[in-house]
Amino acid sequence: MSTSMFATAQSRVDLIALHGKIWTEDPRTPEAEALAVRDQRIVAVGDSTTIEKLAGEGTKVIDLHGRRVTPGFNDAHVHFFWGGQSLASVHLLDATSKEEFRRRIADFARTRPSGEWIVDGNWDEQKWSPAQLPTHQLIDDVTPNNPVWVNRSDGHMMLANALAMKLAGITRETKDVPGGEIVRDMEGNPTGIFKDAAKDLVERVIPPPSDAQVDAALLAAQRYALENGVTSVQDMGFTGSHAADMQALVLRGYERLLAQKKLKVRVSARFPLQHYDRLATLGVMTNFGNDTLVIGSVKAFADGSLGSGTAWFFAPYNDAPNSSGLPTDELADQEKMYADMVAADRAGLHIATHAIGDRANKTILDLYERLEKQNGPADRRLRIEHAQHLRSEDIPRFAQLRVIASVQPYHCIDDGRWAERRIGHQRALTTYAFRSLLDAGTTLAFGSDWFVAPINPLAGIYAAVTRRTLDGKNPDGWIPEQKLSVAQAVHAYTVGSAYAESQDDAKGSLEQGKLADFVVLSDDIFHMDPVKIEDVHVEITVSGGAIVYQRSN
Ligand SMILES: [Zn+2]
Repeated sequence: MSTSMFATAQSRVDLIALHGKIWTEDPRTPEAEALAVRDQRIVAVGDSTTIEKLAGEGTKVIDLHGRRVTPGFNDAHVHFFWGGQSLASVHLLDATSKEEFRRRIADFARTRPSGEWIVDGNWDEQKWSPAQLPTHQLIDDVTPNNPVWVNRSDGHMMLANALAMKLAGITRETKDVPGGEIVRDMEGNPTGIFKDAAKDLVERVIPPPSDAQVDAALLAAQRYALENGVTSVQDMGFTGSHAADMQALVLRGYERLLAQKKLKVRVSARFPLQHYDRLATLGVMTNFGNDTLVIGSVKAFADGSLGSGTAWFFAPYNDAPNSSGLPTDELADQEKMYADMVAADRAGLHIATHAIGDRANKTILDLYERLEKQNGPADRRLRIEHAQHLRSEDIPRFAQLRVIASVQPYHCIDDGRWAERRIGHQRALTTYAFRSLLDAGTTLAFGSDWFVAPINPLAGIYAAVTRRTLDGKNPDGWIPEQKLSVAQAVHAYTVGSAYAESQDDAKGSLEQGKLADFVVLSDDIFHMDPVKIEDVHVEITVSGGAIVYQRSN
């Protein structure tokens, strides 16, 4: 028995977990049966007999009954408020008729204070028969006091009620805008449906969410994360011109929940690179905060998305030969973006940049290389978010430049259904190229991009290991040579993502001195048919030695 174990035995231990199959992610002791926790941290890992001796009066005991335990999952890329807002709002996606759509909005409106906007919703009229776009008349009489602004599930269409249109000043005289449409009836009156660019006509009058709405969204998001075994999230925040202000609103929400001892998921919140000076002028550096909440990292955008044709490539899209996508406005002014990177880096703020297309990725690797030369070598945890489509020659540069690939494996089995139509087979070979990146020595950090994809890490692990697209058309995996092992996927979802947020000294593995964040799984994902991993669920989630979720059977 080591001296540290002896010291531990003399003092109170808060929790012991016994008789499990613990995947520690500690290379010195990769597997163990038991662990002990005091003051949120692991004080010992070992066999059940040894650990059991550490229990004293008041020690909580979890009998793992031989079940598989992994470190708590750390989701390296979420949009926590947006996700939580959609959970906390009216749910319309599985409404199967316009009557059901109307009833759900009516029921939800009755729970809301007068004047509060009802947003999100995710309706899909294709599930109704007949499939017919809703109109404001369908819901006006059940929402007299609440403006309604609910989105179609693809995000390209919204329905406003009469009150929302009144507040936005929309009348039959309102003109269409380029790139958008106000849908009208036979008499020319707006029906309540707004498409694409026309959405701005209403969105500009929606007030920022109230404190109560922010807190409700964050709590809903937290519940969903903990149910899925996610004990840490890296909140990428918002896009658009109000991104920094919105993230400040959300940060105050996190702080309120922290003060009320309601914040159970660990959060690191990023701010837009363009607003790095808000942090820098205060002297805030990366990971300013405590074990539960930190700020001080920044996020930039290089391009858009594959689905919308705005990911920036060297060669044109196969299905749109006149377009190769484009850089964001932020990257279009490359020297300004680079100057922001240099200044943020000097201020001690770690940088992550969203890059999807191969040209966006190459450009950001170039900027990172230049930054490293200019500011000198340092431990700066540079990241590319998504790193989705890479030219073969750019893959080794991630490891050479120590750039972390922060990737979301679920996107691979989702986009894999149609990606080749857009970019062809050749480019698809180095798309979501997790294995090639890993073989080249890259640090992979896994995440979900929730709300865009489900937060469930087991779905992400399943995706990385099987690459079976959601349409069932690739039972042996889409670009199967890029599959990972379960161990590699779990590593990326724990140690990899902790490294990406520069918290690998406190999280990622289950070893003495680290935070006691772990999950108990219903099956042993390391010893089963990988195809069945999608059915595995989280039974218990422990954060800092406290049970924060337990599945009821
Ligand atoms: Zn995202």
